[in-house]
Parts: sequence; structure tokens; C-alpha cells
Amino acid sequence: MTVPSDLAVPSNLTGGRPLVFRNATVLTIDDAHHVEHGADLLTTGDRIAAVGRNLQVPQDAVEIDGTGGILMPGMIDTHRHMWQTAIRGYGADWTLTQYFVWNYLQWGKSFRPQDIYAGNLLSALEAIDAGVTTTVDWSHNLQTIDHAEAAADALAEVPGRFVLAYGNIQAAPWEWSAAPGFRDFVARRFGGGDDMLGFQMAFDVPPASPDFPEKAAFEVARELNVPVTTHAGVWKVTTDEGIRLMHEHGYMNERTIYVHAASLSADSYHRIAATGGSASLSTESEQSAGQGYPPTWKLREHGIGVSLSMDTSAWWSADLFSAMRATLSADRAREHLEAHARDETVTHHKLRAEQVVDWATRGGARALGLDSLTGSLEPGKKADIVLIKNDASPVMFPLLNPYGHVVFQAQRGDVHTVVVNGRVVKHDHRLTGSDLAKARQVVGETVEYLKGELGPQAWHDGMHPEIPETRVLDNPYTYTYTQERGAVP
Ligand SMILES: [Zn+2]
Repeated sequence: MTVPSDLAVPSNLTGGRPLVFRNATVLTIDDAHHVEHGADLLTTGDRIAAVGRNLQVPQDAVEIDGTGGILMPGMIDTHRHMWQTAIRGYGADWTLTQYFVWNYLQWGKSFRPQDIYAGNLLSALEAIDAGVTTTVDWSHNLQTIDHAEAAADALAEVPGRFVLAYGNIQAAPWEWSAAPGFRDFVARRFGGGDDMLGFQMAFDVPPASPDFPEKAAFEVARELNVPVTTHAGVWKVTTDEGIRLMHEHGYMNERTIYVHAASLSADSYHRIAATGGSASLSTESEQSAGQGYPPTWKLREHGIGVSLSMDTSAWWSADLFSAMRATLSADRAREHLEAHARDETVTHHKLRAEQVVDWATRGGARALGLDSLTGSLEPGKKADIVLIKNDASPVMFPLLNPYGHVVFQAQRGDVHTVVVNGRVVKHDHRLTGSDLAKARQVVGETVEYLKGELGPQAWHDGMHPEIPETRVLDNPYTYTYTQERGAVP
């Protein structure tokens, strides 16, 4: 049967039946990056069953017409502070310093468990709506186990794939990771090996103490056999020193994710590459907040795996189209600027659209150790799928260069259908069976509460940091022009 697009969107579109997308341009992101034109994709249960032209499918398969559209793997965001979605856009004009002051020193501790829940719920819905089927919740405000329960509850409520990266900026990592409640929580919520909700530990290694007290937290991660994700190479905050300490103590491995990984020396990149870890680039964040220039070319020179991320909705959204676009543009802008400084011209770009689509999908799967499950459209993998198609849009045709189309033409509003783990979570541009009204309600309550905690002045000042003065240069032409006409003596 074909699903009529004007039907009220049901919460269970397929009713457990197979699902077939027909006649799409399919970016498989398999090892050879095969692109199939006019192809079909069949899912059965939670898996991809087949990809190819004119597939024979079971009679009861539900059919979605992909004509004129692009099928790609669900996108993967490897670093997002989902709780901060409750203050969406509040910090649009912040620098990293202002972010730290507001969240770490002043107001982050005001967030109650229900506020963490509210931010996570909205953030999780936003992710699947944008075609981001897997998101790492870099949850660094889990001040109590109740906060952690609230974070996990929200993630479990939304039908996306998530990884809770447990952290707490209100205490040192060697303190919170040693608390008995922490291990109980991990055992209780993450003991079953559920591939819909994974677990990491999230903490940073600032160069404050040569005694390396973070060692204790790394030991806990090792005992629990969970990966560590860490903000690395953040200008003047985390440095080469942290990488050296981690490396010399044997805590760097292929599951370690280095968020930003800017502002680092070649020595640190060598240590990361040699131990097999990967970098999570948040290009929009690095450009605005100031962690360092997004190090795309350095990571490629050192053979370090790359995934993409959106960091926080205090500034940005869950939109990985933005991440791909910003990342490609940043790499090219730097290449041109450096060439011009040498009085040279770049005639051939090194970084291509195809590469950043890989980073937004397969790169994330590799980073999270989920490459056998998701990140590409291949038979046997979990059905995490995005259909980009918008028949009402003048931007969907001609579809000549599918990778270029995804990066520079498409946007989140063109995400027509999203499938996670075989389940249709968005169809015909609308979330299916997800409670946006509830998210609106709980986020509204959090915003009202925070406004009350801060008071009107602090609320206003936090959103509108002082603007440094911009001096307008003396202009010799203005002087000449006005003198000639006798307007100025
Ligand atoms: Zn971050």
C-alpha cells in the first residue's frame, strides 16, 4: 500500500509491516560510497533488508515514494549538551567565556531534574525531526542521580538512538564518578546492552594539576568498560598538557572522542592518531565561541577519524545540515585565506561535499563503535534512514550532484521521512507519535522558573553581553568630498 500524504499521521505507520522506499537517489555511504539512482530500499523489522533497483518486496510492505528525493543514512551527532535546549538561542551572542560564566559559575546549578528532562525531551525530538537518528547527550549538569534519571528518562521517551555521556560540571570528575549512586545508576539503567541508549563518561582534563586527579575517573571508566568523551584543545582551557597526561597514563584508546580538538600541537594529534581515537568537530561552535579554528585539515593530515556535532542549542540547533555546510566552508575559507597571504590562488579544493556527508553519518558511527549497526544503508544494518524530499520546494531539482545537494542545497525542512531502528518517526515532514505539546509545556515551565531565579536584570544581561566598541576609521575621501563642496570648513 502507498501511504497517502494527507492522512493524519499515525503513531505506528507500518504496524510492524515491511517498509519500502521506491525510486530514490540512494547515498549508501558503504565502504565504496556507492550511489544508486532510481533505487529502492526495503526494511524488515528493525533492519535494512535490501537496496537496489526494482526490488521484489512482500505484498504487505508499506511503500513510500522517494521519486525526486535522496535517501541517506540517519545522521549522527557525537556531542550535544541536550539539557541546554531549554535555553534555546539565549546565548546567540556569547563567547566561550560568557558561556562558562553563565553555565559553570552562575546559573547552571539552578537547573533541577525536571529542567534537565525538559531540555533533553525537546532536544531529542528536535534531533529526530532534523534526521539526526543518533545523538550523544553530553550531559554535564547531572548534579544528582535524580538529574541523571531525568536525563535518561527523556531520552528513553523519544524514539531516537541516543548515548548518555554522563558528566557534572558542578563537581570534579574524580568526585562524582566515585559516588556509589553513580555506579548504581549505570548498572540499573545501562546494564542490558540496549543499542538504543548507550553510555559514556564525559569530563575534561584542564591543565590545573600535574597530579592528574582525573586519573581516578579514567579508572572508573576502565572498570565499567565505557568510553570517555572529553573537550580537548579548547583555547586556554584544555591543552596539550591534558592529552599528554592521558596518553602517558594509558587512557587514550580507539573509543575516546576528543571534542573540538582544536588549539593542539602536532604532538597531540600524533598521540590521538596512534591510539585510534577520533575528533568531534562542532564547526559552528568553534567559529563563534572560540575554542580554536575547526582543525579539518590537521585531522586529515594525521589520519584522525572525524565526526560532526552541534554542541549546544544555547547558540545552535540539532541541524547537521548546518554542521556539514559550516565545516566544508570553514575548511575552504582557511585554504583560500592562507593561499592569498602567499599571493597564490587555490584552483582545486581538497575537502569535498562527499567527505563531510560521510563525517555526518558513517564518521559518527565509527566514533561511537556503532559502525556494524548504523551509519550506512547496507543490508543487515539497523534501519536508520533519512529521506530528503520536498515536492513543494524549488530547491529539490535538478538533482545533479547528490552529495553537493545534501550539503549546500537541502535543509532540515526538506527532511520528509525519518526511520530509526525500523520505526517511522517522521513522515511527510511531521513527527509521528511524538508529543511536541508536552515538550512545549515542560520547557515553558523551565523557562518561567529560570526567569524567576535570575530576576529580570540578570536574565536580560545574560542574553545581551556588552558590545566592545568598534571605531569607524577616518576616511580621507569623505574629507576631500566635503571640502570640495564647502560643506566642512
Ligand atoms: Zn561541548
